[in-house]
Amino acid sequence: MKVLVIEDEKKIASFVRKGLEAQGFVVDVSHHGDEGYTLVTTRAYDVLVLDIMLPGRDGLSILRNLRERKMSVPVILLTARSELNERLEGLKLGADDYLAKPFYLEELIARIHAVVRRAAGTPQSILELEDLTVNLLTREVKRGTRKIELTAREFALLEQFVRSPGRVFTRAQICEQVWDYHFDPGSNLVDVYVQRLRKKIDGEAPVKLIETLRGVGYRLKARE
Ligand code: CA
Repeated sequence: MKVLVIEDEKKIASFVRKGLEAQGFVVDVSHHGDEGYTLVTTRAYDVLVLDIMLPGRDGLSILRNLRERKMSVPVILLTARSELNERLEGLKLGADDYLAKPFYLEELIARIHAVVRRAAGTPQSILELEDLTVNLLTREVKRGTRKIELTAREFALLEQFVRSPGRVFTRAQICEQVWDYHFDPGSNLVDVYVQRLRKKIDGEAPVKLIETLRGVGYRLKARE
């Protein structure tokens, strides 16, 4: 799951980033409203965590512009206790939820899961393909009855594949979804991670699920 955090208070931003990364989220952080707006309009995120008072474009303007552009990325506003009017305005403008500062990380994580589930329109947290099951909430991965331990990065990679079986992902697309935007797509890290994931997922299994399209990218076997 990929999250963009637009928050100019560096301490809060870094606390949120560390906490979400520990949960296996892929996190981009921007400390500036204009830069954040560019990121959210040019990259694919599952959730935007948005502060209201920002240098450059403020949070409510970002939200208004997103909704005017019919971009439906779920938005969780971070508000100060005193910002009641802004909070109401934000909900009117189409924010999905808000959280008053100071907040517990666990609460933010629970809300992220809730808005993403709502946005997806399905309460489905378990994705299946053949005998592979991936639980997006507990992060449990199994092939048949065999439990598979994955690192956070490997899980993010598998999640991207299993959300769209049959769809081919180029290395650049995988980089963008699974690593943050500082990542250098010139390195062969994607291939290394796909090989590691393949070893764990396919290993000795008779049916191989992770497919390589030479010169193009990777995909998970299409549903039959
Ligand atoms: Ca602020």
